[in-house]
Amino acid sequence: MIKTDIIIIGAGPVGLFTVFEAGLLKLKCHLIDALPIPGGQCAEIYPKKPIYDIPGYPSIQASVLVDKLMEQIKPFSPGFTLGETADTLEKDNNGNFKVTTTQGTVHTAPIVAIAGGLGVFKPRKPPIENLHTLEKKYIHYIVKEPSIFDKKNIVISGGGDSALDWALYFAKNYAASVKLIHRSDNFRAHNDSVQKALNYAKEGKIEMILNSEVYSVDEKEDNIFLNVRSKNKETQNIKCDNWLPLFGLSPKIGPIGNWGLEIEKNAIKVNNSTDYSTNVDGIFAIGDVNTYDGKLKLILCGFHEAAIMVQSAFKKIHPEKNNVLKYTTVTGIKGF
Ligand SMILES: Cc1cc2nc3c(=O)[nH]c(=O)nc-3n(C[C@H](O)[C@H](O)[C@H](O)COP(=O)(O)OP(=O)(O)OC[C@H]3O[C@@H](n4cnc5c(N)ncnc54)[C@H](O)[C@@H]3O)c2cc1C
Repeated sequence: MIKTDIIIIGAGPVGLFTVFEAGLLKLKCHLIDALPIPGGQCAEIYPKKPIYDIPGYPSIQASVLVDKLMEQIKPFSPGFTLGETADTLEKDNNGNFKVTTTQGTVHTAPIVAIAGGLGVFKPRKPPIENLHTLEKKYIHYIVKEPSIFDKKNIVISGGGDSALDWALYFAKNYAASVKLIHRSDNFRAHNDSVQKALNYAKEGKIEMILNSEVYSVDEKEDNIFLNVRSKNKETQNIKCDNWLPLFGLSPKIGPIGNWGLEIEKNAIKVNNSTDYSTNVDGIFAIGDVNTYDGKLKLILCGFHEAAIMVQSAFKKIHPEKNNVLKYTTVTGIKGF
């Protein structure tokens, strides 16, 4: 049984920064994540993208932010249970929580901080039967390493930010050719990206195939062939090296949804006027996983929530102690 002060569910940027804020209060943390690596969405969905709204960094690649967070929390030696999903939550006779993973690892602590983000990620896949047999070699639902598409003929499907961002990116870098297939002629992406993509199409950098969908895929001699049908039933067969159906992720809160927490629109309701506590005493929810009036699903908002939340966690764990806010500039890291 792993014992700690705070069990953090989710090792995304918010879960990681919670370790730092808790560490300043001498609270020990243990993180559980279904993914085999820390970093949450930053590591799994967009590791190579630059983020522009992290204070102090005019631009920072998502994977670098994760590396820096890992470096920042190192002095506090957090524990990690990676590649395991937090499945059940119980309370023992001493008032401690017991969180057990799908693999049976048991963790216990007086406080649970849920930083589960979008939940356990599941990309939305097109309803095509044989896709799973082609996935490893040809089909990617998330772009983790853009350089693997170097000089490749790629087809992207989708009309949201992810599809357009990557179409623009690959049209400028790496790919030999980029086709964008979208089932409508209206895009859900930011206007700016839509305008750029339309300009690229005019310049011949992206071939747009609108009002059309891929309905089946065949494999032949190291290529795949996408069978595409338009709204007015015209068909075409497109040969390519890789197909990237970027239809987004279906957010699923997963097992946490069964823990007796108040859930609204697939997110955990918290009290944002105090400390991001949930309806269960001792359980907090921070980062993308929570909801309240005016919530912004941004990394910096999650960082703020973590800093507030650990103050309440401290009071619960040490009701007899008076915590006085100390500046890191005064005490440093070792002094805490
Ligand atoms: C393409 C894209 C671009 C973005 N760009 C920006 C940007 O520029 N600026 C910005 O501020 N934000 C951006 N975001 C949003 C940002 O990534 C999120 O706000 C941030 O990742 C939230 O962090 P988090 O730690 O709350 O959750 P996440 O990063 O979602 O991490 C949650 C973790 O919890 C784990 N988990 C969930 N349930 C369980 C369970 N039961 N057991 C074990 N593990 C579990 C998941 O596996 C995951 O690793 C972007 C998002 C996307 C998709």
